[in-house]
Amino acid sequence: MEVGPVDTSWHPRAACRGADPELFYPRGRGSAGVARARRICKACPTRQLCLDAALAVPHALDYGIWAGTTREQRRRMRQDRAA
Ligand code: SF4
Repeated sequence: MEVGPVDTSWHPRAACRGADPELFYPRGRGSAGVARARRICKACPTRQLCLDAALAVPHALDYGIWAGTTREQRRRMRQDRAA
């Protein structure tokens, strides 16, 4: 999949800026970190932009918590959008 230039202008407003990256890239499933990351995402002013990026950028599809979603959730969303 070819991806054009990625808009990162919203990054400075992201609620996760300065947060522990381990929360958003947890090593184990169902970790407490996932719940904490989701709480941060829930209040994030750039959540929709983050989700759009996560569905558009291939590496974002496969790793971490983006916009409060898991890899599996994003894969389903992407399939739904393609259908
Ligand atoms: S929605 Fe995206 S930008 Fe906002 S806190 Fe969550 S991971 Fe960070």
